[in-house]
Amino acid sequence: MARGSDWRAIRARVLRFVESEVYPVEARLDDAPFADWIKLMRPLMERAKAEGLWALGHPKEIGGQGLPFLDYVHVNEVIGRSEHAMTALGTHSLQDSIMLHLFAAGEVRERFLGPLVRGEIFPSVGLTEPDVASSDPTQLETTARLDGGQWVITGRKWFTTWASRAAFTTVFARTEGAETPGHAAFSMIVVPTDTPGYTILRETPVLGMAGAHCEVEYREVRVPAHYLIGRRGEGFKIAQKRLGPGRIFHCMRWLGQAQRAFDLMCRRANRRKAFGSRLADKQLVQKMVFDSAAEIQACRLLTLDAARKLDQGDEARAEIGLIKVVGARMVHDVIDRAIQVHGAMGVTPDTPLERMYRHARFARIYDGPDEVHIQTVGRRLLAAYAQGGGWDFGDRDA
Ligand SMILES: Cc1cc2nc3c(=O)[nH]c(=O)nc-3n(C[C@H](O)[C@H](O)[C@H](O)COP(=O)(O)OP(=O)(O)OC[C@H]3O[C@@H](n4cnc5c(N)ncnc54)[C@H](O)[C@@H]3O)c2cc1C
Repeated sequence: MARGSDWRAIRARVLRFVESEVYPVEARLDDAPFADWIKLMRPLMERAKAEGLWALGHPKEIGGQGLPFLDYVHVNEVIGRSEHAMTALGTHSLQDSIMLHLFAAGEVRERFLGPLVRGEIFPSVGLTEPDVASSDPTQLETTARLDGGQWVITGRKWFTTWASRAAFTTVFARTEGAETPGHAAFSMIVVPTDTPGYTILRETPVLGMAGAHCEVEYREVRVPAHYLIGRRGEGFKIAQKRLGPGRIFHCMRWLGQAQRAFDLMCRRANRRKAFGSRLADKQLVQKMVFDSAAEIQACRLLTLDAARKLDQGDEARAEIGLIKVVGARMVHDVIDRAIQVHGAMGVTPDTPLERMYRHARFARIYDGPDEVHIQTVGRRLLAAYAQGGGWDFGDRDA
């Protein structure tokens, strides 16, 4: 389906890299303190660069390899096989790099964009706050006011993933007064993490894993006025631009996780014997394989369809909402079945499944909880009928 480059060959090379370079060090990277993690990660990054596999999806004009969007979507699936592969291959910074490329100018762009694409620094993004339901970001309470050519930022965020490793956080803050409607009242401001007043209070472990999810207090943090990206009040617009393709990439990586779980499940079922026959011969296990195959394939086709629509200039909001929810369920359920087929071993670190399962649980919460997407898509489809039209699935093929 994709055009432009020989994506199958690139996909195969990336898969080989992930299997031969990343898998062997995965267990040592998991939960390693940053100083140890970076010592292991840097050589992987250098090898990816040497093999021509670095920053494949970043636009050429900012130092990436400019793989066309649809080709890169396919490559993402194999990058998703390991949680560490994104960083090893320099794709972890894609969303932030594109955001800076599209919306940042002058000093911010000069200072951060190049090093970000080269993997010399790490990004982070701060939207979510502990004190308000952040699935409704119009409620966010962090503010930024202009004072003497500087933004003064005050508030508290949490779940700013990687803040403790990052050179900067792009902060979502209210810059407009109460009279401005919520969707036009917020802006994105780049805050270097060494700015006085930027205070990391703690790293919140998630289901027993480290992950560098930071709670950050902004105590009158001052940055130059031109560290605003885009225009005042455009925070939602920038977030939307970031999230559309981002959700496709997430979903493809979840498919990569599901594929890995599926492989492990099928191999185990063929090896292990109980009650006189292989697990593979039991109909209940065959059903687990069937359900997983059906869900993976359905989710794949949904995701590729959404990607094609996005590539054709459609915002594909309904399709992207669908894949976020279907993808999060799919990856969770496929890994869950793979664990079941492994018995007790499935919940130990002797296979990657237990950690993959914990990560899969987050998928239903981050990037907007499932319920919000379900509500938005449901409303959108019903509105089409309320306006006298409808939603003809057959007429929406990309
Ligand atoms: C691993 C991980 C990494 C993250 N990384 C980042 C990051 O880097 N930067 C960042 O800013 N944030 C990050 N987040 C935070 C994430 O984006 C938020 O948790 C998410 O947006 C939900 O906000 P909340 O936690 O405040 O939940 P709330 O808004 O309090 O919602 C709680 C629950 O209420 C229910 N709910 C909400 N709305 C509706 C509705 N309309 N209808 C029915 N039910 C509803 C849902 O079940 C939802 O899960 C991360 C989260 C996780 C788990």
